[in-house]
Amino acid sequence: MKITTPLMGTVQYIIEDLCARWDREYIVPPPNTAKTMKLGVQHGPETACLPLKLTIGNLIQGLEAGADTTVMIGGGGPCRFGYYADLQRRILENLGYEFESYTIEPPGQRPVHFVKTVKHLANGRSYRQAYQDVKHCFRKGQALDRIERDGNATRCYEVTRGDADRARDEGFDIVRAAWTWDEIEAAERESLALMAAVEKDMSRDVLKVGLIGEFYLILEPFTNFDIEGYLGERGVYVDRGTYTSDWIGVGDSNPIFGTHEDEIVEAAAPYLDHWVGGDGQVAIGRTVLFKERDFDGVVHLLPFTCMPEIIAKQILPVVLRDKDMPYLSLVVDEQTGKAGVHTRLEAFLDLLESRRRQGRLTAPGRTPRAAACAPDDFEEVVAGETRDGGDTGAGAEPDDEDTRTSGGPRERIEA
Ligand code: SF4
Repeated sequence: MKITTPLMGTVQYIIEDLCARWDREYIVPPPNTAKTMKLGVQHGPETACLPLKLTIGNLIQGLEAGADTTVMIGGGGPCRFGYYADLQRRILENLGYEFESYTIEPPGQRPVHFVKTVKHLANGRSYRQAYQDVKHCFRKGQALDRIERDGNATRCYEVTRGDADRARDEGFDIVRAAWTWDEIEAAERESLALMAAVEKDMSRDVLKVGLIGEFYLILEPFTNFDIEGYLGERGVYVDRGTYTSDWIGVGDSNPIFGTHEDEIVEAAAPYLDHWVGGDGQVAIGRTVLFKERDFDGVVHLLPFTCMPEIIAKQILPVVLRDKDMPYLSLVVDEQTGKAGVHTRLEAFLDLLESRRRQGRLTAPGRTPRAAACAPDDFEEVVAGETRDGGDTGAGAEPDDEDTRTSGGPRERIEA
């Protein structure tokens, strides 16, 4: 059995570890490129969300590289993710590929199916051994996430450009080489110490930006034009609303994000009190929690036609007005260009800087919000104008589908 899977951030390292424990050959698809995108767009449904297209491209490239088995995570809806595995299989079969396909359904929703699939893939390992193997590879995933999280917190302070990225890559190699539980924990400590040793200038007054939205767009740097690196190099402290091991983990504790799922749901409840699929509800909750951590703004990443995030996008203006926090909404599809995204991020950072400056000049008792944008100006800013009449660069209409900007993402900048 030669297994291939879609790519998504560090998930390939977790699967690599599991395949090694189960003595399965893992054919890692080549990193996402324009070619992957082209394959997905060519063979995927036109109106499908971007992750489906890219994952189809990954699987084609994996099969072309010699894999004979595809493995995909399942889902129970209500968004389209639950159909991904079946759609991928049918599309690949129609293209003439001969392969076996396995879907790992969420254990909480289909426990028997989950256990049977894992047992089959585990290549003769006992249930107990297979469980231990899964535990070890998740632990590795957590270590990788912690390295990435600390890398994002370090990049904005690094004295020498690229030090945080070098420490991250070295840490990844150390963790990937670890095998036993103790080795993984020791590798995590060593990697985090490497990151901590990066020379930093802590006197910098950095902006803090949280990334919220659809998990695939947050976790896969190809789709978000490496937004973390881009912001970090501009002296912005970045944190994610979603980490790989939090997302694929079976519990609700979110150890990397640091907040239990119940707290996120509770934070979202005044604005959205039920699950709408994907990360729609948690995007709202995490926005509230980022505000509590004193973040300056959030960037909302969503694929074009993403159902849960379109719901979140309609609610976010109310949340952000209540919380007095600006946000930039980036809707991404295969037409989205890097230059367009980076231009909008620049405009957003200018807005955040401006609020900071005005906040500092504000008389005691007035909030930075009051200085940057009085409540009755809100509708004006939504329409893409600052209070003094200047263009924020948004040019956005309130309707999601009407906000498309030629050559760039559909976006809104709000303050
Ligand atoms: S969360 Fe959105 S982008 Fe992701 S699978 Fe669901 S509909 Fe598609």
